[in-house]
Amino acid sequence: MAISTIPGFPRIGRHRELKWALEGFWGGKRTEQELNETAAALRAEHRAIQRAAGIDLLPVNDFSFYDQVLDASVLVGAVPARYGWGGGQIDADTCFAMARGRAKDRPVAALDMTKWFDTNYHYLVPELTADQAFSVSSDKPIAELAEAAADGVTAKVALIGPVSYLLLARPAGDAFDVFALLDRLLPVYETVVERLVAGGAAWIQFDESAFTYDRTADEIALLDRAFQRLAAVKGSARLAIHTAYGHLGDAFPAIAALPVDAIGLDLVHGRKNLDLLETHGLPAGKELVAGIVDGRNIWVNDLDASLTLLEQLAAKVGNDRLQVSSSSSLLHTPYDVRLETALDPELTPWLAFAEQKLAEIALLTRGLNEGRAAIAAELADRAAVLAARTSSSLRRNAAVQERLAAEKVEEAGRQSPYAVRRDRQQERLNLPPLPTTTIGSFPQTGEVRRARRDFDKGDLDVAAYEQFLEGLTRDIIRLQEEIGLDVLVHGEFERNDMVQYFGEQLDGFAFTQNGWVQSYGSRCVRPPVIFGDVSRPAPMTVRWATFAQGLTAKPVKGMLTGPVTILNWSFVRDDQPRSETCRQIALAIRDEVADLDAAGIAAIQIDEPALREGLPLRRSEWDAYLEWAVACFRASASGARDETQIHTHMCYSDFGDIIDAISALDADVISIENARSDNALLETFRSHGYDKAIGPGVFDIHSPRVAPVCEMVGNVEASLEVLDAGQLWVNPDCGLKTRKPDEAHDSLIAMVEAARQVRERIAAHSAR
Ligand code: GLN
Ligand code: ZN
Repeated sequence: MAISTIPGFPRIGRHRELKWALEGFWGGKRTEQELNETAAALRAEHRAIQRAAGIDLLPVNDFSFYDQVLDASVLVGAVPARYGWGGGQIDADTCFAMARGRAKDRPVAALDMTKWFDTNYHYLVPELTADQAFSVSSDKPIAELAEAAADGVTAKVALIGPVSYLLLARPAGDAFDVFALLDRLLPVYETVVERLVAGGAAWIQFDESAFTYDRTADEIALLDRAFQRLAAVKGSARLAIHTAYGHLGDAFPAIAALPVDAIGLDLVHGRKNLDLLETHGLPAGKELVAGIVDGRNIWVNDLDASLTLLEQLAAKVGNDRLQVSSSSSLLHTPYDVRLETALDPELTPWLAFAEQKLAEIALLTRGLNEGRAAIAAELADRAAVLAARTSSSLRRNAAVQERLAAEKVEEAGRQSPYAVRRDRQQERLNLPPLPTTTIGSFPQTGEVRRARRDFDKGDLDVAAYEQFLEGLTRDIIRLQEEIGLDVLVHGEFERNDMVQYFGEQLDGFAFTQNGWVQSYGSRCVRPPVIFGDVSRPAPMTVRWATFAQGLTAKPVKGMLTGPVTILNWSFVRDDQPRSETCRQIALAIRDEVADLDAAGIAAIQIDEPALREGLPLRRSEWDAYLEWAVACFRASASGARDETQIHTHMCYSDFGDIIDAISALDADVISIENARSDNALLETFRSHGYDKAIGPGVFDIHSPRVAPVCEMVGNVEASLEVLDAGQLWVNPDCGLKTRKPDEAHDSLIAMVEAARQVRERIAAHSAR
């Protein structure tokens, strides 16, 4: 008999109960006990949901207050010295200090946060030293196992695998020897396994997804070393390797051969795993956890095709060696489509959120065990839904199709080369050396959010809301003039979110009411659903751009989100390549650029903070992605005349390895995160050079701290060591949305003063 399982379930709560509990606790409005009660209730509810759906083997310890990688650091006692942990069990305060900065009310740097594979989830990067010691420092997995066992659940305890844990970590200080650390880490994992076995764990699942990235033979060899030892202490429990987000590539044979009882493969985002399985097979006695229901997207499964594939797999490995699963943890999907009451009724049946996916997994398992006939009605229903989707007019827009066929996105670009554009733009804008600007948003205060909420609820009418926004915009323009910035922004007060704001105005997008997905910690996002061809029925930003420009003689940047970022932060349709959807968005953005240009806006910024994060996990696939992503950006910028300055902005990642693609965007000016990563970017310019205008951020906008002028001067001077004064801009790392008004104000005053001092220094220097 095949069984049904999942690697993990969402944990934030159907109504984001965990978010409210966490934020209440952090704000001192809830006790730790209340927080724990909410968490226990959520876990119980999640078990009940999974059992009711017919899932046989339930994940345990997939719950987390913040992040499962942070939990792994806590489990093994990897706490950097600055948190002042003195050994023993790690308490909630220390754990949250690592996540959020602040320990016992004293500010302390949080662990670095970075993207979890190519998802929009962020994990806390373990910070390990070369002499790192490990010890079992939490009983969370054991306690959650006991809780599930008391509930009568057959449990699969989810842990981050020891090798992936080390591969996902970063050295603090000197580079560490992963091999040496593994030998120190394994005894801790052995103890945890022994305790879980004693606690009655049926299965223990080790997430070794780090092997969906390119890995060296040495790294792959670590797996055998680790799992030989863990297998030796597994007692009555069975061990499973879980991998998700891609295929295993060269690591496949080694992973298949590990002394474990089951191997989990992503068969949706790692289709190539099927070929690898075909070539290398699965050793006798080992079970296959077939990740066949997409854990990352929200479309219903093609049950017929999945069942066919499962039948083929069963023919190969045997029915009782199959576990039917989702391709990844369901963490990346919202809870329940049934909570969506405002969607187009034609669209709703196309969607499956986490709870619907559980039902799909259980159904496929039943089809496999009892035969197709047992689920014939469901298969027929699903076939009808898919057929309806295929033929739906929601999906296709003939005008978009015609336009894409006629206009070659790949060939689009600006009229003249950069040098020509630069001179025309300077003639028009007449900017001083080292021009100062910001990234776009100004603080979104409680007042702004409240007004937006009232407007959304209908308590505030359009006229009153617009009047309110006009007031804020007017104030922020005046403020920027007073501070002495050279290129202004309108502040983005009218925007809820940089993708949602555009998606709501584009055709082909739908928005959920409750489709929340955890981004990090208590933060959730509600990604738009791109279900059909994308087009722009009317201008989206011209009204606010021209209003703001009308208030000042200084240039105000038009502010747009780029096509690649809109794509990467949405649930994307699965019935055509991502590149095709991106091309459609690019054309819509180009229309907007052209309209802004025609309205007299002299500088237009097209933000692409998510360009880097869309990179495929495998290097061999980078070029293909970058090619179409860059082409889409260029196509959207091509709506501007030469004398109109195109800016772009990037943040959240290291850009060193894609600097050529960034240059190929051909943006006239790029503002890029730099201060937060300690000028690391500058090394890239030193070795690679850069030929267009660029503003490496001079202060970190994530911190409430106002950096002193001298520090910002230092950052500008550091940039000048590798870039020309003629190409350098002075700006923050990113938008000021999350800062308090005072912090933003003081930081910008310091920034403008820093630019002034450096200009003076340069002028004095060249006068000599
Ligand atoms: N223009 C946006 C802002 O300033 C850019 C945000 C981002 O890069 N994430 O808020
Ligand atoms: Zn940014």
